[in-house]
Amino acid sequence: MKAAILENIDSPLTVADVELTDLSFGQVLVKVLASGICGAQLLEIGGHKGNAKFVPHLLGHEGCGIVEDVGVGVTRVKKGDKVVMHWRKGEGIESDFPSYVYKGKTIKSGKITTFSEYSIVSENRVTAVPQDTPNELCALLGCGLSTALGTINEEAELKFGESIMIVGAGGLGVNLIKAAKLASAYPIIAIDIHDHKKEVALQLGAHLFINAQKENIADALQKAFGIREVDVVVETSGNKTAVESTLPLLAGSGRYIMVGQPKPGESIEHVNAHHMFGGEGKMIKATQGGQFSPSKDIPRYVRLHKAGILNIDNVITHRITLSEINDAIDLVRNGQASRILIEMA
Ligand SMILES: [Zn+2]
Repeated sequence: MKAAILENIDSPLTVADVELTDLSFGQVLVKVLASGICGAQLLEIGGHKGNAKFVPHLLGHEGCGIVEDVGVGVTRVKKGDKVVMHWRKGEGIESDFPSYVYKGKTIKSGKITTFSEYSIVSENRVTAVPQDTPNELCALLGCGLSTALGTINEEAELKFGESIMIVGAGGLGVNLIKAAKLASAYPIIAIDIHDHKKEVALQLGAHLFINAQKENIADALQKAFGIREVDVVVETSGNKTAVESTLPLLAGSGRYIMVGQPKPGESIEHVNAHHMFGGEGKMIKATQGGQFSPSKDIPRYVRLHKAGILNIDNVITHRITLSEINDAIDLVRNGQASRILIEMA
């Protein structure tokens, strides 16, 4: 079966044949139908996730698939089930690291990978969903959409009519705009440095798009809404300049949620840190996947979608095949794409 392999740090992925191995205790073999590409994979390609010593290895952490086989001990899913493939731990067995054979040698992978036609994953990284769950929803629930909903609900504790600024209208940013709209935030402000993100951001529910390289953010807020601060900032880029320029825009009871991770070793300067004491207790928080709890959250999100309340229209901007993955990763890296979906079949 074909898989995208990270052979060397900071290099394009190799799409090549990889052999599966026998399932061990608590492992599940999944035929992958679709996978999203997440910013975390860019960090892995750069060797910034503590993964450099494990190359060559497989990648990907949000997917949709069909269970092909289960190992000893697996009880939560069975052959034929449609599943969300997620990086956060759900219920079930935490298996050993899966193995594959590549060029005659055994290689290990993480407990969830999705950039392959088939993946061996740990039981606690898959959650069964109804067969009629659309593939793109199923894949997005593996990370991007679920992280966004959790960030808004659990971390930002956004209240109706609070203002929110989403920094970075990329793959996670577009899901956050959807989630903020669902929570009746107002206004929803999308910040990016690429003008072509504007149309998608506004379609998804943002009330204002600001190009931070062309406009002063506070002035643009003043002009559009008569405010110079916001209740919630969700930062998705991990970019030093983006963090430093948006931290001072936090309102008195504001919450600043960091989703995008700065590179290891990088420093961020907190400009005029005194302003943090100017309110009722401003907060800065680094989130872990929006506290997404797969076994509990995925079923209710699927129901919400089926009821027409959670729609994902316009979230996916590109659909590709596995062989096009390096071009797609370049699009994500250069800020050209929102969510990209790899369709395996
Ligand atoms: Zn992710």
